[in-house]
Amino acid sequence: MLFNEPVFGPIHSRRLGISLGINLLPTESKLCNFDCIYCECGWNTKAEKKKFNLRNEIKKHLESRLKIMKSENKYPDSITFSGNGEPTMHPEFAEIIDDTIMLRNKYAPAAKISVLSNATMIANANVVAALLKVDNAILKLDSGIDETARLINKPQFSYSIDKIIEYMQNLKKQMILQTMFLRGTYDGKDVDNTTETEINAWLDAIKRIEPREIMIYTIDRKTPADNLQKLSFAELDKIAEQVRKLGYKAQVAK
Ligand code: SF4
Repeated sequence: MLFNEPVFGPIHSRRLGISLGINLLPTESKLCNFDCIYCECGWNTKAEKKKFNLRNEIKKHLESRLKIMKSENKYPDSITFSGNGEPTMHPEFAEIIDDTIMLRNKYAPAAKISVLSNATMIANANVVAALLKVDNAILKLDSGIDETARLINKPQFSYSIDKIIEYMQNLKKQMILQTMFLRGTYDGKDVDNTTETEINAWLDAIKRIEPREIMIYTIDRKTPADNLQKLSFAELDKIAEQVRKLGYKAQVAK
């Protein structure tokens, strides 16, 4: 499923309520430095275009949509950066965040600004500074174990959980950690980030990161990899309970 507009929705988000989406990535193909086996945008393709939506175009579309929503008295709960890939890869991500804050303050001051990110660009100080300005910087960590993360997220570069955790610590406890839990098989290997070993490594990562909140969820739509299974709400809630016991707020997406 690809979003074919720079600004889309509003849609009802399981986690964020009425969400007006912003897609900084190409409208005709996915662009991401991960290739998660559960990605709702499908697999990365060789045909992907490294053509980001232009800052001015995004600003224009967002202002126009917010004006309409204001005139109809239908405000979004969240203006959410997601779309066809990884938003923080946009070379003007920080400037676009500034534009969005200005437009949100003008047209929908109660709306939160949320960024759904795979956290791969947080070695970049400008990206971190921008993420610290938004209400919800929601960063992905699907496992505390490198091998499992490589299997689930298929990073397109060298990826180290230890490094990502270190960079997440720069978000000064403002970030929200999001984790997709799933089971199945992929590429002839078992995939399961819910085993005792996995959960213990993930809880250790949480203790090091100290996020403001943890959002956990499972598969909701068709996945590019076959043979993946979603977890029940009861299973997710059991995992959330272990997080709550550590003193953190945990939200399970229904
Ligand atoms: S990080 Fe997000 S956009 Fe990128 S492959 Fe994973 S699910 Fe898809």
